[in-house]
Amino acid sequence: MKILIADSFGKDLPEKLKEFGEVTDDINELPNADVILVRSATKATDEYLEKAKNLKLIIRGGVGVDNIDIGYCTEHNICAQNTPEASSIAVAELAIAFMLGIQRNIVKAHNTTKAGQWAKKELKGRELYKKTLGLIGIGRIGYEVAKRAMAFEMDVIAYDPYVKDSKIPLVGLDELLARSDFVSLHTPATKETLGMVNKEFIAKMKNGAVLINTARGKLLNEQDVYDALQSGRLGFLGTDVYSTEPPGDSPLLRADNVLLAPHIGASTHENMDRIGDIVCRLIKDLSEGKELISLKP
Ligand code: NAD
Repeated sequence: MKILIADSFGKDLPEKLKEFGEVTDDINELPNADVILVRSATKATDEYLEKAKNLKLIIRGGVGVDNIDIGYCTEHNICAQNTPEASSIAVAELAIAFMLGIQRNIVKAHNTTKAGQWAKKELKGRELYKKTLGLIGIGRIGYEVAKRAMAFEMDVIAYDPYVKDSKIPLVGLDELLARSDFVSLHTPATKETLGMVNKEFIAKMKNGAVLINTARGKLLNEQDVYDALQSGRLGFLGTDVYSTEPPGDSPLLRADNVLLAPHIGASTHENMDRIGDIVCRLIKDLSEGKELISLKP
């Protein structure tokens, strides 16, 4: 079996996979690969997949499979899998880090102190304690964020039209936006959610509220969000994701009241190990001829 590691995975993974066959990161091996491992960088479009004539299994290390043409995989009997359970803690911790970093001006505090200034008086922050956090999407990551936010004694509410029963109080979207000091996005990119954070959405939020996006950049209308940041209608944005990545000339890069990260939500050493373990299990199942259930379009 030939295993092509197309994107960046844990550095021990090639060694662990050797027991199942030949492991390569040479993209020229695409036509011979039985298994391809991707994260978000490789775009496994129909054009890409057409070249992979031997492909039986493609695994996305992570959650969002918007970079894989699942329809093509279904038509051509290629099993497409991801590792959804692995990344939740890493992404949830980043969402909390954004909230704390914003409330306590961590970036400004670091930069001014490093530059020899003593900006103690200007850097009066705010707490998370007793603030309301509204989660849009209460799936795996949303729930991990909720647990952590509750440890800070935040009041946590959620909007998720597909969840009927949750340990977190469920409210309608308008109520969530009206009540939340922080709104954190944890939905996939779907027809319903693409561009959902626009002028009308922001107009329903509390004045000066903070928006956190560790989900997908395309959930935001970036121009509307930029305008609201400039006017102060939106107090702050913490985002890990952009409508195009890298964000190039996204207006978000020009705003002052933003805390930006380069899509590192899932990038922890621990998560890479968890992803590696799941990848090994799936490839072992394939090598033993077990039936693998593919993701559906
Ligand atoms: P999940 O499937 O467990 O949860 C998603 C939740 O969103 C579900 O409960 C679903 O019902 C809900 N949802 C769907 N449509 C909705 C809508 N219109 N309004 C409100 N809720 C809606 O997924 P997850 O593991 O929690 O991941 C969430 C998202 O996080 C992923 O889809 C991915 O885009 C993103 N993510 C980002 C990173 C990163 O590196 N920043 C890493 C992993 C995942």
